[in-house]
Amino acid sequence: MTASTRPFIPVAKPFIGAEEKQAVMEVLDSGQLAQGPRTEAFERAFAEYVGAKHAIGVNSGTAALIVALQANGVGPGDEVITSPFSFIATATSIIACGATPVFVDVDPFDFNLDPGQLEDAITDQTKAVMPVHIFGHPARIAEIAEICEDNDLALVEDAAQAHGAAHQGRPVGTFGTGCFSFYPTKNMMTGEGGILTTNDDEVAHRARLIRAHGQERRYLHEAFGLNWRMQEMNAAIGLVQLGRLEGWNETRIANATRLSELIRVVETPRVRDGDRHVFHQYTIRVTGDRDALQQKLQEAGVGTAVHYPIPIHEQPIIREMGFGEGSFPVAEAAARAVLSLPVHPALGPEDVEYIAATVNRLAGP
Ligand SMILES: *Cc1c(COP(=O)(O)O)cnc(C)c1O
Repeated sequence: MTASTRPFIPVAKPFIGAEEKQAVMEVLDSGQLAQGPRTEAFERAFAEYVGAKHAIGVNSGTAALIVALQANGVGPGDEVITSPFSFIATATSIIACGATPVFVDVDPFDFNLDPGQLEDAITDQTKAVMPVHIFGHPARIAEIAEICEDNDLALVEDAAQAHGAAHQGRPVGTFGTGCFSFYPTKNMMTGEGGILTTNDDEVAHRARLIRAHGQERRYLHEAFGLNWRMQEMNAAIGLVQLGRLEGWNETRIANATRLSELIRVVETPRVRDGDRHVFHQYTIRVTGDRDALQQKLQEAGVGTAVHYPIPIHEQPIIREMGFGEGSFPVAEAAARAVLSLPVHPALGPEDVEYIAATVNRLAGP
């Protein structure tokens, strides 16, 4: 097929099947809409999937980060070390707790927080470390967990893009407090939604309180909390989607493997030996004019996205905290070079071949 007769390939394509619709209708018919039995069932199923002792459902990935930080004792005056190469919520969730984000540059191998630079960033104010498993590739989380252990710091994993990813055989979200997002374009979705995972009974208990107005029992408020609760409709969708997640992840991995076999002219994503990358994004590095290539791909019927064009420390809201160009050169170079191609499970084999052939044609010398 030529570009003009081919349907446009979007960079992301959420799937909503008959089972999801049925599940939502059942919730509406039940009349129970706020957090209830479906949320509990979803929490049990997700905890089992990740291999964590507890899971606590909330109403977004951002909520999961805020509740996780607060459940780990992060508050005003504290510093939380994180990555400058992520979605803004990674940093703003820290600010929402009254704490200060402190950045450590990323490793050019996988765009994840570089553990080799972590210890230099630790101060007397440091309370927690929050690495991101960016694009679905695990950070070097075992090394980071060890540094946290040695320095008595909490570990919160921003696993918003990494449902089902594993580092050296161990699922992400089990090293510290895991935070997942179910935004529509993530590897599985609930509409809006999020969840925390932990093996720590105390953290789980505090997270449950913080999620629902710090309420110990009805109208007795022992902790500071707000309304971060998951809705039953979202949990019902999540239960169906969780059943599809492994199949989708396998298809993403197969699509990514095929793209990397076929693409010759640009640098394709790296996967660390022994790690499971679940390819929330399939992100190439472009050495020439990235924005021009994006435009040409768009015209050829291939949707792409730039994750992320501006590193967090250069965002206007964060820059005023004293950062500037040159603060984190690896993250800045990544922001200029990255381009995410479609890798989602709705792609057919011909789509994958067309994407690779089009990249080879348009990005070549
Ligand atoms: C999506 C995402 C979030 C926020 O999740 P929401 O559900 O959109 O609030 C946080 N961090 C990262 C890395 C994300 O990709």
